[in-house]
Amino acid sequence: MDIRTAHAWVTAIAGAVEAEAGRLTRLDAAIGDGDHGTNMARGFTAVVAALDGFTAESVGDVFVRTGITLVSRVGGASGPLFGSAFRAIGRALPSPAATPAELATALAAGLDAVRRLGGAAPGDKTIVDAYAPAAEAFAAALADGADLPAAAAAAAVAAEGGMLATVELAARKGRASYLGERSVGHQDPGATSAWLIFRALAVVTTPAD
Ligand code: ADP
Ligand code: MG
Repeated sequence: MDIRTAHAWVTAIAGAVEAEAGRLTRLDAAIGDGDHGTNMARGFTAVVAALDGFTAESVGDVFVRTGITLVSRVGGASGPLFGSAFRAIGRALPSPAATPAELATALAAGLDAVRRLGGAAPGDKTIVDAYAPAAEAFAAALADGADLPAAAAAAAVAAEGGMLATVELAARKGRASYLGERSVGHQDPGATSAWLIFRALAVVTTPAD
């Protein structure tokens, strides 16, 4: 992954959260306070602005700037969580180009940051439930000999599976945990955003034919 692809990934995330903001907000209205789509769209709009004209010297520069912007511009829980993830991903990628293996390590560092900040474990109906299987699938695909597009595609599929599995879970972290068992039957909004993020990675790394 080079700086241009890093930029393209973040831009694609911004497009996806803008397009899906209504759905993200409806999901959050069911088990939270109905601001998740607004939070994500506002955050990534600010990220696109912050990257406009920004000269990155490393792949990580793009992601650190993304993370700092999300932390400072998003009021909800998701801003600091996704923001910390991107900052950690960025800190792990100090070169102008990152190998797929380096990206796998960075994605794992981002997941660690989410887990440290939010304290959520898999099964708690959060971002972690889509991010953890995606990061694992990305690394597993590389170990099987996959290239970056194939690993990213595997991560997106795993994120989608983790996102869908949140429907059956009772929330144990975040606002939805106030509902306890009443959160069962609803898909987690933050896990849905995590899926959008990995889907965007698959889209921008897949060469057009
Ligand atoms: P808020 O809950 O402050 O309104 P958002 O609506 O933007 O923030 O984000 C809600 C999402 O944040 C949830 O759907 C969940 O996935 C995620 N989330 C909340 N708390 C945590 C946590 N402790 N760890 C991981 N993810 C969390
Ligand atoms: Mg909310």
